[in-house]
Amino acid sequence: MSKVQEISHYDSFLFARTAYFSRQKKMSDSGKLTELSALGEFGLIDQLTKNIPIHNKSTVKGIGDDAAVIKPAAGKQMLVSKDLLIEGVHFDLMYMPLKHLGYKAAVVNFSDIAAMNGIPKQIVVGIGVSSKYTVEALEEVYAGIKKACEVYKVDFVGGDTTSSVAGLFISVTVIGEAKKENITYRSGAQVNDLLCVTGDLGAAYMGLLILEREKKVFQANPNMQPDLSDHDYILERQLKPEARIDMVRLFADENIVPTAMIDISDGLASEALHLCKNSDKGCLIYEEKIPIDQDTYDTAKEFGIVPTVAALNGGEDYELLFTVKQADYDKIKNSQDITVIGYITDKTEGTQLMTTDNHLFELKAQGWDALKKRDLEIPGSDKKSSD
Ligand code: ADP
Ligand code: MG
Repeated sequence: MSKVQEISHYDSFLFARTAYFSRQKKMSDSGKLTELSALGEFGLIDQLTKNIPIHNKSTVKGIGDDAAVIKPAAGKQMLVSKDLLIEGVHFDLMYMPLKHLGYKAAVVNFSDIAAMNGIPKQIVVGIGVSSKYTVEALEEVYAGIKKACEVYKVDFVGGDTTSSVAGLFISVTVIGEAKKENITYRSGAQVNDLLCVTGDLGAAYMGLLILEREKKVFQANPNMQPDLSDHDYILERQLKPEARIDMVRLFADENIVPTAMIDISDGLASEALHLCKNSDKGCLIYEEKIPIDQDTYDTAKEFGIVPTVAALNGGEDYELLFTVKQADYDKIKNSQDITVIGYITDKTEGTQLMTTDNHLFELKAQGWDALKKRDLEIPGSDKKSSD
């Protein structure tokens, strides 16, 4: 079991099978809720940010002044990234528990730092919240953010709190570090480099489809219990993704510096296209090599989707897509967490997929919105999803 999997099975934070749809309701039924206005902005900030530990030497001053103070480690460069999550666009509170939302908001930022071959060190969190939220609801979100910081040893050093007209906005900025010579850009891939992925792909998207399906059932009849049984893995991949910081550590341990890297947030096809475009190269990916978990495979079939298409166009796996020199093959070949799926070619050869039945076709970035429509097929192959 990888470190990431161990982390994701943390006791009380473990995926609780049927809790999702009833959770918000239970909170409002308990009657012990505090309106945001009862605390005021400063009281709320105090409440949300008490007892936040500091893990990193580079954090000189965390929450509590006008700005945090960070002292970059000698010989390291700083990496900065931000993601903005908007209710109804990036998450749906029908099935996204608030604590998981906080965890995911932090982790997707850690993943961007991993994609640069760096280690996340600090985050700053901006939150916009409407009056329908309570102090307890925000505490849940913060519990998730704090949990992610504890697991990944990242310091939560500041933020901003404001009201919104409707819905919840969470914006996380992450600061990471890496040695200059280890920073991995999207642009460094060379012809004949091996194209590799970590973990397996398509699971988060299949988890989303299960949740969307059960949401419809629930909306039609709120007394129905959602049927989420036997899908722990793909649901957890959707609701509680992990960032592959363990891979960054493995690269350091094995003395590997990938030639190019990107994290897979929008599906393998889209990220492979980004990597090739930025490197001014092409690639050839073998369909049969794409790692797909059995649960992903079975669920895709159930939904009438070609499993490979879920991996190519599904989103939110937060695995890493990277290239290494062929000379580094021996260093990665024994890792259970890394799969070589193809190689880098000259730009003139395009970005191609070789299907299991030996057809070549050009990769397209459909993204997971397109996948939702399920009007997909693999050109040149006889496989087609049923609508
Ligand atoms: P200012 O008005 O100068 O922006 P604030 O009162 O908003 O200051 O913030 C005071 C401190 O609390 C700062 O250290 C800030 O980073 C922190 N802070 C404010 N809002 C949040 C939040 N939502 N999460 C974490 N820290 C926050
Ligand atoms: Mg402020």
